Amino acid sequence: SNNLMAGKRGLIMGLANDKSIAWGIAKALADAGAELAFSFQGEALKKRVGPLAEQLGSDILVECDVASGDSIQTLFETLRTHWDSIDFVVHAIGFSDKSELRGRYVDTSRDNFKTTMDISVYSFTAVCKEAAAMMNEGGSLLTLTYYGAEQVMPHYNVMGVAKAALEASVMYIAEDLGKDGIRCNAISAGPIKTLAASGIGDFRYIMKWNELNSPLRRNVTQEEVGKAALYLLSDLGSGTTGETLHVDAGYHVVGMKAVDAPDI
Ligand code: NAD
Repeated sequence: SNNLMAGKRGLIMGLANDKSIAWGIAKALADAGAELAFSFQGEALKKRVGPLAEQLGSDILVECDVASGDSIQTLFETLRTHWDSIDFVVHAIGFSDKSELRGRYVDTSRDNFKTTMDISVYSFTAVCKEAAAMMNEGGSLLTLTYYGAEQVMPHYNVMGVAKAALEASVMYIAEDLGKDGIRCNAISAGPIKTLAASGIGDFRYIMKWNELNSPLRRNVTQEEVGKAALYLLSDLGSGTTGETLHVDAGYHVVGMKAVDAPDI
């Protein structure tokens, strides 16, 4: 453990279970001395998120469905009853109809396009606005993205289009809030087996392909994403904003199948 986050308070959004990327990040931050609050989607998740939060010494647990502006506002009003300011927010939330995370992108429905953009893109912007209102200089905002924003990945479809928009919004938010000394970044994580990932067609094959073809010849862990988050959310990252940091075992630099990779 270290003291990189001593005296800092922040909100973790998107913890569903101990496989969540949010869990890897929360553990790294708590280990560095951060004080944490958690939001969760819907009462059904409370029994799973509660014990995890408790494990990290947090007793601030707030229900928030980011599809609703009122729900986001209530979340921050509740936080204000506990804390007068906040130092960081982690947004580890994405959603698209599972039935459209396979097959062709071109078949995306208007309804699911809107929902995917709303939950996976707009919610981060709305959260940043609320969070910035209770942040001081040195505040840091973080979201999670994927390589499917930059290149076509099988079955990622409308989620790839949403992640491209999310990465663009990170740049615009960085500019807007940079004047107040608040930073905004994204981590582009390699494939990790989580609840959300299980909705993507052929996800096991994608993981295997990344393992065989990334420069490090393996996949990344929630803990490794946690360490990168610690850099971006702590003073170590004080000169970095508007950035999408790849934590993907180097997969994004590869232009061709590795010569030593077997056919799978
Ligand atoms: P996860 O299923 O553990 O987390 C997704 C979270 O989104 C859940 O906690 C869920 O409750 C929340 N969520 C969905 N709709 C919501 C809503 N309307 N309101 C509030 N919360 C809502 O899966 P994960 O893989 O840890 O996903 C976290 C983030 O990481 C997502 O943005 C995902 O796209 C991104 N990401 C994942 C991978 C991967 O391979 N797992 C790779 C790169 C990026």
